[in-house]
Amino acid sequence: MTNAIHIDGRAGEGGGQILRTSLALAALTGRPLRMDHIRAGRRKPGLLRQHLTALRAAASLTGAEIEGAELGSGAIRFRPGPVRGGEHTFAIGSAGSALLVFQTVLPILLRAPEASVIHFTGGTHNPWAPTFDFVAEVFAPMLRRMGVDLELTLERHGFYPAGGGAFTLRMEPATLGPLTGAEEQDLQGMDAEILVANLPFRIVQRESAVLRARLGLDDRDIHPRKVASAGPGNVVSVRFRGAVPERVTSFARKGVAAEKVAEDCARQAQRYRAHGAPVGEYLADQLLLPVALGGGRFTTGPLSSHGRTNVETIRAFLGSDALQVAVDGERTVVSRPD
Ligand code: ATP
Repeated sequence: MTNAIHIDGRAGEGGGQILRTSLALAALTGRPLRMDHIRAGRRKPGLLRQHLTALRAAASLTGAEIEGAELGSGAIRFRPGPVRGGEHTFAIGSAGSALLVFQTVLPILLRAPEASVIHFTGGTHNPWAPTFDFVAEVFAPMLRRMGVDLELTLERHGFYPAGGGAFTLRMEPATLGPLTGAEEQDLQGMDAEILVANLPFRIVQRESAVLRARLGLDDRDIHPRKVASAGPGNVVSVRFRGAVPERVTSFARKGVAAEKVAEDCARQAQRYRAHGAPVGEYLADQLLLPVALGGGRFTTGPLSSHGRTNVETIRAFLGSDALQVAVDGERTVVSRPD
């Protein structure tokens, strides 16, 4: 029997990433996982619906025995069996982010003996999580570069707090190769996308005016899209074309002026452009596990506490030399030593 591993959910920032990364790595290494103090660093600790769905999804892809699979649970056990692919549906049943469930199952499916088709429902455009568009246009191209054949199709937008979104992942199993071409950015342009659902379209005009003023974009570079969704939604993104595709995103909230949403997005875009590293803060978090598994390297800014916690979780499973983090002033190079 492969040796069991104990993970303390209080480590580092004490958030949900420790659980997602641990589930993926327990499934890939076949190691039984015992985890306690889940999300102890958060205001509402324990498993939220999103984390519970991720746990159940990882269990159904590995035939795992699980304990503690309840809302609010602070401790779980997860004893995985062999990975299987095929067709599955994972539904959050709330506006929790379906992309964070995707984040848990994707690495597991690399190891499946057959192709997979996975239907996800829940939130597709949530604050504090990657949006569907971020995953499809930023993260997925990096994985393709590492040799993964995957396709993502959005069927329905689901904005926080109403949710009700749906998307499908189709992928082939793969052995990850090294990540390349992510050390220097070669910025070739940027444009903006403004999504709006069940809200007055004049919001788009107010947000466009801010993007034009702050970023020097002209109308041809601003793409408004009216989309159908169960509830209201408004998301402003700036996309960068270059050696690494990147995207920064701001989410409208009730009581926050449209101008503020666009200004926040413009500020993030200016910060990304000024720094010059190809991989932004969030993509960095999300590339740590693929690089630990497939090798290669990327350059980013200072790792966030979220990123540093994720590095430590990965090292707990794969050893302290699974990832090398070299800090040089404001630039950080993450790699897997050869
Ligand atoms: P908690 O920590 O409360 O348990 P959680 O499980 O929902 O929350 P985190 O552990 O904070 O989530 O992880 C959030 C994930 O979402 C990370 O992978 C992070 O890179 C990603 N993310 C957050 N904001 C963005 C954004 N604006 N664009 C892209 N990705 C994002």
